[in-house]
Amino acid sequence: MKLADRTTRIASSPTMKVTATVDRLRRSGVEVIDFGAGEPDFSTPDPIKAAAHQALDRNFTRYTPVAGIVDLKRAICERYKADYGVVYGESEVVVTAGGKQALYNTALSIFGPGDEVITHAPYWPTLTEQVKLADATPVLVRTHAEDGFTVRAQSIVDAITPRTRGIIINSPGNPTGALVAERDLRLIAEAAAARGIWIVVDLCYEKLIYEDVPHNLPKVLAETCRDQTVLCGSASKAYAMTGWRCGWQLGPAAVIAASVAIQSHSTSNVTSITQKGALEAVSGPQGAVRAMLDEYRTRRDALHAWVTADPRLRCEKPSGAFYLFVDVGDVLSADGVRTSLDFADALLEESRVAVTPGEAFDAPGFIRVSYATSMDHLREGSQRLLDFVARHASQAATA
Ligand code: PMP
Repeated sequence: MKLADRTTRIASSPTMKVTATVDRLRRSGVEVIDFGAGEPDFSTPDPIKAAAHQALDRNFTRYTPVAGIVDLKRAICERYKADYGVVYGESEVVVTAGGKQALYNTALSIFGPGDEVITHAPYWPTLTEQVKLADATPVLVRTHAEDGFTVRAQSIVDAITPRTRGIIINSPGNPTGALVAERDLRLIAEAAAARGIWIVVDLCYEKLIYEDVPHNLPKVLAETCRDQTVLCGSASKAYAMTGWRCGWQLGPAAVIAASVAIQSHSTSNVTSITQKGALEAVSGPQGAVRAMLDEYRTRRDALHAWVTADPRLRCEKPSGAFYLFVDVGDVLSADGVRTSLDFADALLEESRVAVTPGEAFDAPGFIRVSYATSMDHLREGSQRLLDFVARHASQAATA
């Protein structure tokens, strides 16, 4: 069967594969502790659900404008103004089916054949796959565990060539939870501004930052290269709305117009009911967001302490998102568990704990452990993980 060439350049989402395996095991009656999840375990807050119920009851069930209902577009702009002090107008925002579509619209609107697009690794694979779907080439700048996976401005600037068309920054980052510092972003943005390079920021985890560190990336970009900046956000993680599919894209009117045109020929508007829920999410009281953040922080601290009780599991405490990215290199050996992929498979097989192998993020030797799950699961799962490591590390030592 002959498929289009582009299908040979991309792979399906490896993070979603873990979810599918856990689903399959659970349906066959196997009890699994799921540390693979890339989504909140919390329910969508009640006021958001009530707004969607009301939309349904009032028959708000028809097409809306492709770019989204005006109230929601305004509310998103107001949210960013309140949170970051940046000003966007109605023609500079589009409501998308999750952050994923915001990023995809962006890639198709600004990247093309021959273009290089820089991003930092380890990375969430969709970012690079979308660059390839836009016929452009991803260029990777490595960040390192010893350095807390910090993105250094200089290493990004050093990767710029005459073909560089864009730089994608993800902060807080998946899978590492690392933040990009404002001063580094400013240096990157200055370099980009001087060369007409786009900066795309994936702010999917923007509400999940645990320490009081400055992270006003939109403001930094507004001050340095607003005309070359696209911000991509999402209701998924902040408001526990992954299944609703709602995100947004903020940028110069020309990019937004191009994105709306692309969206008009692919998915059209985001589900009408979802938009009413999202309107309540971004414009209503933000207390639920803070409550979830506090709970994630408590979980992060507990999980980090439990996991790193074994010195063979190395991991700095991350500043954002809801993952620990753990170096399991000390547990791997030629005769035992050889790779982090094998590690994740064996952990699921033997101990019924699902984690995502670093290979999914172009970072072999690591596993991603999600703490978007209950304390009981975290306690039980980390104990199983430690037992697994003790068993396999002693095998590695005696082999
Ligand atoms: N960016 C990153 C870094 C993510 O991890 C995800 C989801 N896993 C997204 C964007 C997109 O999520 P959604 O489409 O649900 O908004």
